[in-house]
Amino acid sequence: MPNTTNTNSPRPRLFRWEDPYDLSGSSALFLEAVRENVSWHASRCPRYARILERENFSPRMIKGEEDLWKIPVIPTLYIKRNRLYSIPKNQVRHTAVSSGTGGVRSRVIYDFSSLACGAAMVKTVLSYHGIFSPVPCRYLVMGYEPYAGVETGTVQTAFGATFAAPAASRTYALKRDEDGEYRLNRDGLRRELSRLIKEEQTESPFRLPLRIVGFPSYIFFLASELDKRGIRLSLPPSSCVLMSGGWKTFWRQEIGRDELYHLVERVFGIPSARVFEFFSAVEHNILYRCCKEGHFHVPVYSRVIVRNPDTLEPVPDGEPGILSFVTPLMTGMPLVSVMTDDLAVMGRPKPGKTCACGCSTPYFKLLGRAGARQLVTCAAGAAEKLKEAVNESF
Ligand SMILES: [Zn+2]
Repeated sequence: MPNTTNTNSPRPRLFRWEDPYDLSGSSALFLEAVRENVSWHASRCPRYARILERENFSPRMIKGEEDLWKIPVIPTLYIKRNRLYSIPKNQVRHTAVSSGTGGVRSRVIYDFSSLACGAAMVKTVLSYHGIFSPVPCRYLVMGYEPYAGVETGTVQTAFGATFAAPAASRTYALKRDEDGEYRLNRDGLRRELSRLIKEEQTESPFRLPLRIVGFPSYIFFLASELDKRGIRLSLPPSSCVLMSGGWKTFWRQEIGRDELYHLVERVFGIPSARVFEFFSAVEHNILYRCCKEGHFHVPVYSRVIVRNPDTLEPVPDGEPGILSFVTPLMTGMPLVSVMTDDLAVMGRPKPGKTCACGCSTPYFKLLGRAGARQLVTCAAGAAEKLKEAVNESF
């Protein structure tokens, strides 16, 4: 039986790989870790073993990367409706749930080993992109305030992001009241915005960098409200924007990425090189950084497969299909091969060339998903509330 919790086994070694985009150097280790992970789950999760059996699949069939798509794929909808656990309850160290708008949520459990691998990945990826900093900063979180025991993945991610540099303060746009309901933090936002504007006017030498963290849509609405009022800030150089929309890709249908980046630069004085957008999901918690070309580059920890919805076979680069992933991250649940309900296209730099951002790995581009209208409605509600808060700050 594979012992994937041993720190020298392929999986932890993969997650400690020094260069997060060295796909060719780490490929053999990746395949070994995936085979081991499939075996681990097959021997611990009877329901998963039955799925593999039904599909006549054995981990020995993974000989090269071209075989990865054959691993029976678990749709996120299946994870929402069925329990697929490979560890006993007493080994669960962390739980994350999706923020699903439709009521059905995924509940994903982590044991210590998966948490350790995830932490190593976050450290490597954030260091690589220059996001870790010893300089204290103020955080403006355009999202939800966390609370003890919070299980919502996006809230955990935003909170986690506020540890990449020491926090002098954290202001949350949405705070929980005594009834456990989230409400717009009017006072907090008003204070923080007034302070930023005052510091700009007085050219205060004691300004700390600002890190704006949260959903792209909220950041867009805040920036456009400030823009309408002619606010132009020049925040200290290590200020940055850290965005993660999870599945929420709706804003791309409303405005373009370039438009958002220009707006952020105009209003906050944060250049586009300091705007970091990440994609990750509760069911597939791997960090994909979106470069300025709109490419989510594949890191060493996973492979991305865009599938034909009928045959589930990979489609050629540039053709739309269903976004799916392969990663050996999880030991608590068999999430080694999962399929989302997002539409995407794959692409890759020409042989011997790199993307304009300098990265040489393949990438996916998101095309949106079914049911986006509901999300747009949510965002419009948030926009109204933010507008009121900004109005009150003047
Ligand atoms: Zn790129």
